[in-house]
This record gives sequence, C-alpha cells and structure tokens, in this order.
Amino acid sequence: MFDKIVIANRGEIALRVLRACRELGVKVVAVHSEADRDLKHVRLADESVCIGPAASADSYLNIPAIISAAEVTDAQAIHPGYGFLSENADFAEKVEQSGFVFIGPKAETIRMMGDKISAKRAMLAAGIPCVPGNNDPLTDDSKTNLKLAQEIGYPVIIKAAGGGGGRGMRTVHTEAALLNAIAMTKAEAGSAFGNSTVYMEKFLEDPRHIEFQVMADSHGNAIHLGERDCSMQRRHQKVVEEAPAPFITEAQRKFIGERCAKACVDIGYRGAGTFEFLYEKNEFFFIEMNTRVQVEHPVTEMVTGFDIVKEQLRIAFGEKLSMTQDQIKIQGHAIECRLNAEDPRTFMPCPGTIEQFHMPGGPGIRCETHIYNGYKVPPYYDSMIGKLIAHGENRESAIARMRTALNEIIIDGIKTNIPLQHDIMMDSAFALGGQNIHYLEKKLGIYK
Ligand code: ADP
Repeated sequence: MFDKIVIANRGEIALRVLRACRELGVKVVAVHSEADRDLKHVRLADESVCIGPAASADSYLNIPAIISAAEVTDAQAIHPGYGFLSENADFAEKVEQSGFVFIGPKAETIRMMGDKISAKRAMLAAGIPCVPGNNDPLTDDSKTNLKLAQEIGYPVIIKAAGGGGGRGMRTVHTEAALLNAIAMTKAEAGSAFGNSTVYMEKFLEDPRHIEFQVMADSHGNAIHLGERDCSMQRRHQKVVEEAPAPFITEAQRKFIGERCAKACVDIGYRGAGTFEFLYEKNEFFFIEMNTRVQVEHPVTEMVTGFDIVKEQLRIAFGEKLSMTQDQIKIQGHAIECRLNAEDPRTFMPCPGTIEQFHMPGGPGIRCETHIYNGYKVPPYYDSMIGKLIAHGENRESAIARMRTALNEIIIDGIKTNIPLQHDIMMDSAFALGGQNIHYLEKKLGIYK
C-alpha cells in the first residue's frame, strides 16, 4: 500500500478519506487554505501544508501548489475527493506527469466523460441506453436543426457538450422557439465553459434520477454496486439520496448494472465511478458519468458493506478488485440526508460558529461530518457541513431511524436545513417512494 498520500480536498470528504487511510496504515498530508487551519482532518493528519488564501481559486484549485505539497512531503499519491479538481483532466495529467499517482481514472477517461457528446457516444457503443437525440454537435443549418427536433419530438432540450453543475441547458417546447434557443445556448456555453458546442436530445418531463455505482481496477475487472435514487433535488442539487431505488426490480438492477460494468471495461475505466440516468416509464436513459467518488457514496456502502474509498486507494495502488460481482449483495435500505449550513426557508448560506454539536447514534446511524463544538463554518465554500445516513432492514425502518436521528442531532449557533430534512422524512409522498425530480420543488412551492 502507499506509504503517504495527499488529500486535495476539505470538509467531510477529506475526513472520510483520512479515515480510510488510517485503516490501511497510510500516512496523510492535509493541504488546506488559510481559512481552513482548524479543519478536523487537518488536525488529525500526519502533516499539513497551507496551499494558499481562502479563495478556492488560490488554494483548492491551485494545481502547482498542490503538486508542490506532494513533492515537499514526499507523498506518493493524491486523492482529489469530489468537487474542486476531482474531474479536472489537466490536473490528473499533471499529477501523473509529476510522478504521483492520481487516485481516480486516467486523464483521458476524465476528458472523454467530461464532454457529454463523446460520453454519450462511448455509452451507446457499450450498449448503455441514452436519451434519444442527435449525439453530434449541432451545426448552424436551420433546416437540419428543425428537422432533427421534429424527428426527436417536442419538447427537446439543447445542452452544452462541456456543461456542468446544472447549467448550459435550455428546454424547447415549440418549433417557433427552437432556433433562438440553439443560438442562445451556444453563446452562453461559449462564455461559461469556453466551448460553444451544443447538442439536442428529448426532454423527459417527469423522470426520476437513478444512478449506478461502479468500481473498476486496472486489470480489466469491473463490478457494479447497485443503484441509488437521488430524485429529491432542489435546483438540480441533491438533498436526499437512498439505496436501493424504490420499485427497481432485481432484473432491472442486473440489466443496467451489468451494462455499466461492461462499459467500464470497454473504456478502460479505473477506480470509482457513477453512471447517472434519468428513469421514466420503466426505461433508463444515460445522462452523464461522474468519474470520482460521490457525496452519496455512503448509502451504497451501507447496503453492500463495501468500502468504496478504501477500494479506491487499493485500485490506485494497482491491486485487483477485492470482490467479484457475485459477492455483492444488497441488504436492507439506506437513506442519506445532506446537512447544510443554510436557512431552511430561504436557503441562504449561514456560516458561523458551531456553539453546540451533539452527534446522533443508535443502530444503523452513521454521521459523516467534520464539525465539532466551537468549529467556525467559513463563508468561502459549499454550505454542506455533513451527512446523516440511516440504514435499516427495509425503507420504512431506515426512515424511522433517520427521523429519530434528526430529532436527536443538535447543531446550535448556525442555521441548518435539519427542519427541511425532518419535513421530508415526515412527508407521506416521500414515504411511498419513487417521486420524480420535481417533487421537492413542487412541495417547496418553487417549481417553475
Ligand atoms: P450537469 O452536468 O450540469 O449536472 P446533467 O446532464 O447531469 O448536467 O443534467 C442535470 C439535470 O438536468 C438532470 O438531473 C435533469 O434534472 C436535467 N436534465 C438533463 N437532461 C435532461 C433531459 N434530456 N430531459 C429532462 N431533464 C434533463
């Protein structure tokens, strides 16, 4: 195993990676901004290096500073976590060129999956069902574009090939609006992502978001760990996630999961990854692949007993997958509530000092957070301060345990979204399961 690695991230995921390192006997170098000296994992790390001022652009996105930190501490590998540089192909390339191991896929794989057109093409070639569409860059030819939309059938969605974070998309309901929408999305994509390439696909009106977790090694082996339902979203941001997805049958899981694993082998995938799908009328449609560990990975860990982060480290070190597909069994049900430092009504971020923190406990409860009594949540980064995960023998018991844990947890001093999460756990439609991606916004009364 590696002797020492750098964790190029902050907050709960940095702590999660540190814990995996501890278990494997790997030393940890924490890199942090000037605003993050008091982060829990920085205190717990074997060594720490300040890589720049508070602003992410100067610290957590500062590639030369992170690579220098690996050099001066004599580390062997870099774990990017999620967000920040985790899906930046140039970073992965520079890490490897500098003689370190990037704990993730090859740079070329990240690049291919970062372009939604090339990703869709690779998935179609691997037999993964995709949203119907042209899968080619749209040209400026009006006649061709109008014909294409007619063939796909309205509503259609125009998407930027290089888009991300829920931006660079425009839905078109009528022929009269099509050409203008293409021109506007192209212009926006050019300025926002430096790539004006756009493509067209069918707009699905009431889908659920269902994603498959995969793990692949560098010896040509790949497995899937089943699916998660992440349909409880606000502004395309996930709020609650669960595994398995309600009403998905074992046959569907096997069919799509095996195709995802095969696609990993076909594209030479390495490490942990997620295939995201929209699911409507019993059909799966691939939308994109995330080439990193995800925020919601714990729900999969709880129902499979498989440690995704430890496996990432082992795979990066060159080991073979530790389990075969036959050994993966889904047991019970797990739900994750994201805990954000924000006003539960206005969703405005609410940084500040945690005056009192009590962690909930009991059977099946897991709390992933870096906060502690007296910790000051800085205003510079994402407002997520932790995640509460409840595992039970079935969905009902997972929800009951989550309600108890949400009642038990105390975070004083700042506002959090705990009241909202409590509300969702008490919601009768959520209790039924299988709501679509618009449900939460409709409930909150902000659906447009
Ligand atoms: P990003 O990379 O910006 O997250 P995605 O392609 O993953 O973009 O899409 C984000 C969200 O946009 C989806 O979860 C869904 O809500 C919506 N979306 C994307 N494509 C479609 C589509 N074809 N039909 C309906 N909604 C879509």
